[in-house]
Amino acid sequence: VATPPTVDHLLERRESAFAPVQEHYFREPPQIERGWRNHLFDTEGRSYLDMVNNVSILGHGHPRLAAAVEQQWRLLNTNSRFHYRAVVEFSERLSELLPEPLDAVFLVNSGTEADDLALRLAWANTGRRDVIAVREAYHGWSDATDAISTSVADNPNALHSRPSWVHTVAAPNAYRGQYRGPDAYRYAEDAVAYINKLSPPPAAFLSESFYGNAGGMALPDGYLQAVYAAVRRAGGLCIADEVQVGYGRLGNHFWGFEQQGVVPDIVTVAKAMGNGHPLGAVITTAAIAAGYRSQGYFFSSAGGSPVSCVAGTTVLDVLRDEQLQENARVVGDHLRMRLLELADRHPIIGAVHGMGLYVGVELVRDRITLEPAAAETAAICERMRELGVIMQPTSDRLCVLKIKPPLGVTITDADFFADALDRVLTEGW
Ligand code: PMP
Repeated sequence: VATPPTVDHLLERRESAFAPVQEHYFREPPQIERGWRNHLFDTEGRSYLDMVNNVSILGHGHPRLAAAVEQQWRLLNTNSRFHYRAVVEFSERLSELLPEPLDAVFLVNSGTEADDLALRLAWANTGRRDVIAVREAYHGWSDATDAISTSVADNPNALHSRPSWVHTVAAPNAYRGQYRGPDAYRYAEDAVAYINKLSPPPAAFLSESFYGNAGGMALPDGYLQAVYAAVRRAGGLCIADEVQVGYGRLGNHFWGFEQQGVVPDIVTVAKAMGNGHPLGAVITTAAIAAGYRSQGYFFSSAGGSPVSCVAGTTVLDVLRDEQLQENARVVGDHLRMRLLELADRHPIIGAVHGMGLYVGVELVRDRITLEPAAAETAAICERMRELGVIMQPTSDRLCVLKIKPPLGVTITDADFFADALDRVLTEGW
């Protein structure tokens, strides 16, 4: 009888076949071959509550999405040079979700491509090159998006290896940055002063509209209003990266920029919009989109394919029919309440950041010095995995538990997670 390949075997094969320098979860990653809704199952039969997978907003293995994609695969899958219904319907649905005048849609395959294209549009429309980004952010791996990604968690040289067209402003972290609590409004003042002085003036300002990669923190009130106004006065364009935080995850808002009361010039979307299928978009005004002409025509072989568009439209249908944004609000509020209650009993919890189902639990060694509890965070994630919860650290200091589960997680799931965290923090790790 042949012995089935063991987990270890596969890990060794992965290490020799799959290029190194690619991240994987955990020291001893479980072999996950199946997912259902909010859970993942390994080949040893263990189930894990998936609290990290911000891509699968509908949850794993959604039957309606699987059926729609299968049907379209059998009918047609080709590129967007052909004329077909799915690309028109999906583009209309996307632009309906955005305020006027954002109604011109480009379809691509990832967040990296979306941010890269947004920069190209800004350069083409302004004839300028300089871009302002916020520190501690991640926007992609292509040359241009990597240049504006300044998170040292992803690249330790991030701040020392910027090309000269990249300018950064401070991460507006109201918890542990230069300005805290009620002083956080001063980040916008500093950023505006910086933009006003920038010479040559900027082509664009690009940031997440809710501070996702830093652990799910809201930007200080009024931050984007002030910064966008300064960028526009200088003749630049304002780009909102909604790749992680958009699409209903915040519960109260479909888009992160709504929380800031602004309308960007260009919005980038990916991850959730395909629920794991490679799909991204740039949505902008017709005039800015037309400005791309100086670069030629835009084309992406798989971007906007019939299968991608059907996946995208079905994700939107399920989001609406299963009221997942509302669920993100209700379950997110419950989860934060549970976590705040844990913070009362466990001094390692320095803060609970976030909104809806984008939550960050920041772990510190000392609530006065805010010394990041990075080693503890890694160990807690490993122990949580043993207890059946998939969990990962984030932020430049790797001391934030990032919580961004499928939007259909239930109150029971949230309680399971909070109880497991309580147990780990009580027993030690
Ligand atoms: N922008 C943000 C804010 C992201 O978090 C990411 C991915 N983590 C990207 C862009 C890049 O997206 P992708 O991995 O789909 O290329």
